Amino acid sequence: MKKHLILRLHERDNVAVAVRDIAGGEMAAPGVNALRDIPQAHKIALKDIPEGGEVIRYGAVIGYALAPVRRGDWVHEAALRLPDPPALHDMPWGQAAPPLPRAPLRTFEGYPDAGGGYAGTRNLLGIHTTVQCVAGVVNMAAERIRRELLPRYPHVEGIAPLTHAFGCGVAIDAPGAAIPLRTLRHLVHHPNFGGEVMAVGLGCEPLHAGLLLDARDNTQGNVILLQQEAGFDAMVAAILRMAERKLERLNRRRRQVLPLSQLMIGLQCGGSDAFSGMTANPVAGYAADLLVEAGGTVLFSEVTEVRDAVHLIARRCVDEACRDRLAQEMRWYDDYLRGGQVDRSVNPSPGNREGGLSNIVEKTLGAIAKSGTAPIVQVLSPAERPTRRGMIFAATPASDFVCGPCQLASGITLQVFMTGRGTPYGLAAAPVIKVSSRTELKEQWGDLIDFDAGPAATGGSTIPRLGEALFRQIVDVASGRIRPAAERYGIHNDLCLFNPAPIT
Ligand code: CA
Repeated sequence: MKKHLILRLHERDNVAVAVRDIAGGEMAAPGVNALRDIPQAHKIALKDIPEGGEVIRYGAVIGYALAPVRRGDWVHEAALRLPDPPALHDMPWGQAAPPLPRAPLRTFEGYPDAGGGYAGTRNLLGIHTTVQCVAGVVNMAAERIRRELLPRYPHVEGIAPLTHAFGCGVAIDAPGAAIPLRTLRHLVHHPNFGGEVMAVGLGCEPLHAGLLLDARDNTQGNVILLQQEAGFDAMVAAILRMAERKLERLNRRRRQVLPLSQLMIGLQCGGSDAFSGMTANPVAGYAADLLVEAGGTVLFSEVTEVRDAVHLIARRCVDEACRDRLAQEMRWYDDYLRGGQVDRSVNPSPGNREGGLSNIVEKTLGAIAKSGTAPIVQVLSPAERPTRRGMIFAATPASDFVCGPCQLASGITLQVFMTGRGTPYGLAAAPVIKVSSRTELKEQWGDLIDFDAGPAATGGSTIPRLGEALFRQIVDVASGRIRPAAERYGIHNDLCLFNPAPIT
């Protein structure tokens, strides 16, 4: 198959993206000679653009030219003025959705939830904590559990100590504290923890066990308070004793063939580049469409990477309430950023810009491709749990390690993570499939990237073909047949909670 030198996504586009480094003088396309070197993933002008003229990618205006641009020139971030964000009032909703592609599989092997909710994809011992003060002891005990106890319980796949920076020294009654509180409370009931509750607290923190746990779970059999133990050795011994009782019960869990309607996954991207919106994100979007068609639930998030295309998401909302909630979440975040005296232009990161993403509008148009085409049935505040099945927008920050815990608290049991620049990101409580936007990244990080979407840009494959392959990989990982790289190595990020409330 012929390899393209540049990729144009929409017939209206007056810029295209370099599939590889293009040398000055090289013919990028018929009639378009590069006027200078264009780095891979960066944009080349296909037409002359006057000063103030629209620069169009994805068929949408991503900025206005600050100076005249000549055909064949490099269109980089400094050449563009950022457009205003779309208005949030009266956004049209309820647009008819195209039929979804038919899923080739309809079941997976998971751990059923006793209450009829979403199934687990892993069988893990979760150790919850009320406060950062206990993190050191819990991490020491966790090491011993892994070494001394886990080998005796072969049906338990791992342990997840949920240490975090919240719990004390925080304005716990401030409205913003509802988010970290909800995150930690919902994590207690995460499907991968099999209904077993184990929590470690200190004893004097504002976030006491009674606030973390439901009354029925707040028992001596489930909670250890370090201030009641006789020193370090006694603390570790108490944690090991409780862990052993939980492991015995968890060891009886078995996978069963279940409908995909019992699977909830999350999508996010991090370290994106200009390929993300042409390869990894649309491939994930196609896989998401297949999962939704099979009855599954898919969350996408990252408010600052939706804000500039919110009108396109609003159109897909199934009802007015869903659209209103979307506008409300966007307004909340606009105010949150304003409170910090910044705006949405603080995203993209320097790495994104180096990867060819000139501004947040361009990044957003590529980011929303991960949500596929399915109707959006619900919009959630950070760390809320869904009540509907299908494609859902779960508002979270775009920060990788903050979005992760929010989606986990909403109940995802697997995350698909798209990256262009590369990150070794992982979650302790659920497997993460990492998808590269460029084949060069897969070649550089062969042992960290699980799926390469790069061939969608070079002409080596197509989005539907890669999307179906990714869908199959999601089902295999959910079923425990494949362990993605981060899980195999046991690498994961800290549980960084989203806490908009003041620290005291
Ligand atoms: Ca992210």
